[in-house]
Amino acid sequence: MATRPQASEHVLRGIPVSSGVCRGPIFLFHRSQSASPLRYPVGPNDVDHETARFEQALLRTRNQILAIQERVRQAMGAEDAAIFDAQMLMLDDPVLLDEVVRHIRRDGVNVEHAFSIVAHRYITTLSAIGDEYLRERVADMRDVTERILHNLQSNEEPADLSRIAEPCILVADDLTPSQTALLDKSKVLGLATDQGSKTSHSAILARSLRIPAVAGLESASQRVRNGQLALLDGFNGLLALDPSEQTLYEYGQLARRRLALEDRLQEVRNQPAVTLDGTAITLSANIEKPSETDDVRAAGAEGVGLFRTEYLFLNRDTPPSEEEQFAAYREVAAALNPQPVIIRTLDLGGDKVMTHRQAPEEHNPFLGWRAIRICLQEHDLFRAQLRAILRAGACGNVKMMYPMISGLEELTQANALLDRCKAELQAEGIAFDAGLEVGVMIEIPAAVMIAEALAKRVRFFSIGTNDLIQYTLAVDRMNPRIAHLYEPTHPAVLRLIQRTVQAAHAAGIWVGVCGEMAGDPVLAPLLIGLGADELSASPSLAPAVKFLIRRLQLADARALAAFALQSESGPAVLEKAQALAESIAPGLFQMKP
Ligand code: PEP
Ligand code: MG
Repeated sequence: MATRPQASEHVLRGIPVSSGVCRGPIFLFHRSQSASPLRYPVGPNDVDHETARFEQALLRTRNQILAIQERVRQAMGAEDAAIFDAQMLMLDDPVLLDEVVRHIRRDGVNVEHAFSIVAHRYITTLSAIGDEYLRERVADMRDVTERILHNLQSNEEPADLSRIAEPCILVADDLTPSQTALLDKSKVLGLATDQGSKTSHSAILARSLRIPAVAGLESASQRVRNGQLALLDGFNGLLALDPSEQTLYEYGQLARRRLALEDRLQEVRNQPAVTLDGTAITLSANIEKPSETDDVRAAGAEGVGLFRTEYLFLNRDTPPSEEEQFAAYREVAAALNPQPVIIRTLDLGGDKVMTHRQAPEEHNPFLGWRAIRICLQEHDLFRAQLRAILRAGACGNVKMMYPMISGLEELTQANALLDRCKAELQAEGIAFDAGLEVGVMIEIPAAVMIAEALAKRVRFFSIGTNDLIQYTLAVDRMNPRIAHLYEPTHPAVLRLIQRTVQAAHAAGIWVGVCGEMAGDPVLAPLLIGLGADELSASPSLAPAVKFLIRRLQLADARALAAFALQSESGPAVLEKAQALAESIAPGLFQMKP
């Protein structure tokens, strides 16, 4: 019998964002089709055509939902299948159809745009009514809206991430942080995206989930087939399609070396993060969810240096209540007590968008309505969080920091709200930490330039290098096309870090680094040499950083920092940092097949 010729290997190259190697069949997912529908003008003569397209999309959607409903009925019974009845009712709603057609005619826009506007208006109105039943209908409405938009724009069945049944490598044009947060690790062996780069939040999440990932693959999602066998190398940023026997063999060898390294890293787990000459560095962990406290302990980190609380607000229709937040914060604080837990107040915006709120579209979301700026306008939202953090503070090991501080007024206003929350809790007789330590993130160059003033008013600084680099160098941290310009060792960035450290130390407060730079074992010595007292990294990266710290002489770190501060070249500093890391931990960075 003739054997089928083997497809030949084809390698796509991108940006390595989460280490590890995996192989498996590809599951293809397109996000952007439904994310932002196209808008184009249509004339009066096109209205019938647009209406017919809408009717066809509704019919297609109806048939798809009926098929899903039948599958659910067979698998789980009639009661569970009935949840799709509400979606069917929406499809049959004549008012919706009329409104969309009116919109097309009146505004002269295509049906995708008209429908998206009308549907989101419904969603916003329903979300604003604080009724449990209606809230569930919002989720249905959103689901069906996505499906209709998809059907308007594509003939393919929409891929559904929750329907991934077999272990696979997920290839997508892009994924939102909320979609990434929902990935089932047992099904998604690896993640490959066209968009994104090292410090996009989906990449950061992939690292915390320990899913090997490659971003910035440009057009990968158009060049692969569903089910095609692939090997993903998250160390070197490769996606090999139809990998050859030779490639599979070489990666098998690499996996063995990797296991040996893991064993070496395990050995330092319970050892302190102290340099060879006895300087203690606080090594903490960054977390996104309360369930990660086990990972923090397993990584040998000393508490949490950054709890990204906004993830509690994603993938849901209403924000979590004060009680729910209190329970989450207390769970983390209690699990890690007496180690410190630094809770960062909400940093929504940028690429982290809350589904229940239809925020106005922004041309530059990272320069827009984000983090403390939202909180200082949405007092109820902010106060619920501040009260929850103050209450969790009663555990004794909680600290709090504000993100995206650009001026003193923001700090003053936030603290005024904090004082108000303390007074309320006091009056209500609810336990809280009256002396809660408050710090600020330094992640905007303006904050560095006023660091002396900020330092007088807070207990600590935490440098958010992910944003500090993006805002200093004017390089969008999400954009793979300019990822080569996103340079942590750029002289401007290093001088800003140095200035922040000097201001903190002059005021007698400590300073940490919680951006991804702190989790890079090559750059950690540089940060230590620049005077950072604390490094906070994803639990998946902390062991390698500790391994390096324990083999580092502070004098070498300081010499590296001195070289860096007089250097005019980012690449020269990086080269020197790599040479130092390689000399003190040879082989730690050799993850080439
Ligand atoms: C940072 O900007 O470095 C940071 C830690 O915050 P985030 O990545 O959540 O923006
Ligand atoms: Mg930030």
